[in-house]
Amino acid sequence: EPTVSTYVYAFSQGNKDLKDLLGGKGANLAEMTNLGLPVPPGFTITTEACRAYLAEGDEPVEMASEIDAHLAELERVMGRRLGDAEDPLLVSVRSGAKFSMPGMMETVLNIGLNDTSVLGLAKQSGDERFAYDSYRRLLQMFGSTVLGLEHDIFSDALDALKERRGTTDDLGLVPNDLRELVTTFQGLIREHTGRDFPQDPTEQLRLSVLAVFQSWNTDRASVYRRQEGIPEDLGTAVNVQVMVFGNQGMTSGSGVCFTRDPGTGRQGVYGDYLQNAQGEDVVAGIRNTISLADLADLDRTSYDELLGNMRSLERHYRDLCDIEFTIERGKLWMLQTRVGKRTAEAAFRIASSMLDEGLIDADEALGRVNGAQLAQLLFPSFDPEAERQLIATGMNASPGAAVGRVVFDSATAVEWAERGESVILVRKETNPDDLRGMVAATGILTSRGGKTSHAAVVARGMGRTCVCGAEAILVDTAARSMTVRDGVTVAEGDVISLDGTTGQVFLGAVPVAASQVVRHLEGEETDNDLVPAVARLLEHADAVRRLAVRANADTPDDAARARQFGAQGIGLCRTEHMFLGDRRILVEHLILAEDEAGREAALAELFPLQRQDFVEILRAMDGLPVTIRLIDPPLHEFLPDLTDLSVEVALEDERGPEVERHHRLLEAVRRLHEQNPMMGLRGVRLGIAIPGLFQMQARAIIEAAADLIEEGGNPCPEIMVPLVASDRELSWVREALVDVASDVQKERGVAVPHKIGTMIELPRAAVTADRIAESAEFFSFGTNDLTQMTWGFSRDDVEAEFFPTYLEDRIFPASPFETIDVEGVGALMRTAVRLGREARPDIHLGVCGEHGGDPASIHFFDELGLDYVSCSPFRVPVARLEAGRSTL
Ligand code: ADP
Ligand code: MG
Ligand code: MG
Repeated sequence: EPTVSTYVYAFSQGNKDLKDLLGGKGANLAEMTNLGLPVPPGFTITTEACRAYLAEGDEPVEMASEIDAHLAELERVMGRRLGDAEDPLLVSVRSGAKFSMPGMMETVLNIGLNDTSVLGLAKQSGDERFAYDSYRRLLQMFGSTVLGLEHDIFSDALDALKERRGTTDDLGLVPNDLRELVTTFQGLIREHTGRDFPQDPTEQLRLSVLAVFQSWNTDRASVYRRQEGIPEDLGTAVNVQVMVFGNQGMTSGSGVCFTRDPGTGRQGVYGDYLQNAQGEDVVAGIRNTISLADLADLDRTSYDELLGNMRSLERHYRDLCDIEFTIERGKLWMLQTRVGKRTAEAAFRIASSMLDEGLIDADEALGRVNGAQLAQLLFPSFDPEAERQLIATGMNASPGAAVGRVVFDSATAVEWAERGESVILVRKETNPDDLRGMVAATGILTSRGGKTSHAAVVARGMGRTCVCGAEAILVDTAARSMTVRDGVTVAEGDVISLDGTTGQVFLGAVPVAASQVVRHLEGEETDNDLVPAVARLLEHADAVRRLAVRANADTPDDAARARQFGAQGIGLCRTEHMFLGDRRILVEHLILAEDEAGREAALAELFPLQRQDFVEILRAMDGLPVTIRLIDPPLHEFLPDLTDLSVEVALEDERGPEVERHHRLLEAVRRLHEQNPMMGLRGVRLGIAIPGLFQMQARAIIEAAADLIEEGGNPCPEIMVPLVASDRELSWVREALVDVASDVQKERGVAVPHKIGTMIELPRAAVTADRIAESAEFFSFGTNDLTQMTWGFSRDDVEAEFFPTYLEDRIFPASPFETIDVEGVGALMRTAVRLGREARPDIHLGVCGEHGGDPASIHFFDELGLDYVSCSPFRVPVARLEAGRSTL
């Protein structure tokens, strides 16, 4: 036995926990080997070797000798030598990074074949067709992945030959055809690279290994990593494995399967199988596969053995497994397994049923699902009542309801999506070159391939709706149109709707309905078994989480919905919308008021309306805290646009009825015009600059609460002052608010429990939080403003400007407006938490920015020790789940 090293591990030396070093594929091949499953022997060249190679641009010295030693051992065990002329040992070279990256990295099969050993293989197997088929595959894979020729160069030559032989099926080619193809392929390699295909088996092996290392840095691998948030510097491992052959006639074949349905999570037998096929044939959609269940009729023994292996793998991994296998002349071989990707729906069903089956406990079940998946289940689906025109049915590869314009290529998908169109990418089948288009599309439709095809696997991973293998559709990419059997033609730009849950394709836009989970949360009865699965995992999250979850809600309707979704109060009730619509004119009166009397009259008009707003919202959240933010935006937001108004005034007849008001308005608009309003007269500044405004709002809040207390209710208002930078601002305002509150309580003769606090949304506030805490019973981090003020960029502009470049060039790992910037903004928060608690140990702390509903950010807020997060009502269930997961 070769000794353990950092560069090469035999399968028998590894295990499933060594993914960092052996990659996912290698670690799991080792695990299956040690479980005693029939795995062709082999060894894994580590990610360490890959990193060293990529850093140095050269192989580490020890690597070559370690490979030699392991290869010698393999030859000894198999009793054959690599590429031997009489009886060649053949191997595959398979990439495998820590995280599975479907189709990203390259695999080369049948290494060891050359002009001599192909004769040996033909003689040993007694199957010339098989030998030449294997050789032409080696030339094809080696040519494209190692030597960098276009895939199409080979497949075009193959297609041309098939056409000449009058067949559409690879199986229609006879041994002589395949021998001819070998010569053609060798010629193509010579023509395009200026050198011959290397006949030396060890050179084939070495070049293939290095090519896998290099493929880590290909563009499409990089795109996938960015999409999935996989670090750039992991590198890939390489597996060298003895070949077994699914292309040795009709008692051989190749297949893929899942231990449960990765689309729904239900138990059953799921997979695709293809007779007389090798490697990627099954997933490439080149020929139509049969279902795994049908394998039972072809080869009962292998089928039973496979099902047994599937059961042991699932019990061993205690999770859904995704498996690749090959049958060589009736003998089953296991070639790969991994914990399988799954849809959101399947994740919840599997976690819940494995909990029932006793395979996992409740904490583990909670760890098996995440907020992003739950968010998907809260997405709407097609309204079952709506009329629709079914034009085709394919496989329900990835659920959801997608409506969009049809495009037939990746570039158009990207282009149209960038200009804001929702697009459906339609392809015969997809391959890794389509990845950008798939990222850009809302839905993906293919006419070929099963649930394990490239399109299906990638779409599920990205949460895109996908229908695949809709065979009734004839895609004409060149003509930019598709035809379905009954003659309907759909051109580029036409709208279709995809139901990824049923596999149906509809012409036109089908109206969309709310999700089952949402209906359940809203109190409707439903018999969908997904609902109890989601409910119990949410319940467990509620039981273990430390963070409370509140909602950002401005209306009684939103407040009621938030409560149904499990919100434990309102963390942000914005009052500015209460000044819009019909009431805008009242704000105008306030702004135009020329003296104190005018201002008081204007405030008096607004007051009863505000009080009524607060009565309703506090009633909807009775018994739970409601944080009401005093008016925040700059006043000019309530006034007409300067240019529009100037034009109107200029065109107006001097004796018109509105003329005087318009002139005064114009003057006010000019006076209030700011170059940089987000850093201007807003928030607490407004409260100080316009006497009586905050007091009016505070009076409305306390009176509303007093009304409710008299009704027997239990209102818990919290008054929040926005955009405070200095403790003096807050102490000034606090004094005014306290006066109002005590006046009202005296007048009404009731005690109204309430709190006064502030938002922390300016860096200055964060670093002086100890002083600010003296006037604040609570802090709520306004992370949107805090992010824009800390970075110094305007959140209303940047997303369209340089953000795409920053994200593309990885200057940002993620938008800091979506996921909290832990290093910068997070550090300010940490400081504010510490200073705030030092000054006032019982200070209550929360977050009310967009980040309050973002999974990654929630984990950070939990770690910071905040008391609650607040987010939009729709994200409340997501936040509950993630707050629970954060404790695991
Ligand atoms: P991917 O990561 O794209 O799935 P794999 O390394 O799994 O690539 O290789 C693709 C396919 O090639 C496998 O599913 C299997 O069918 C075939 N294959 C790889 N190695 C062998 C082998 N040693 N013997 C037979 N088939 C193999
Ligand atoms: Mg594979
Ligand atoms: Mg703000």
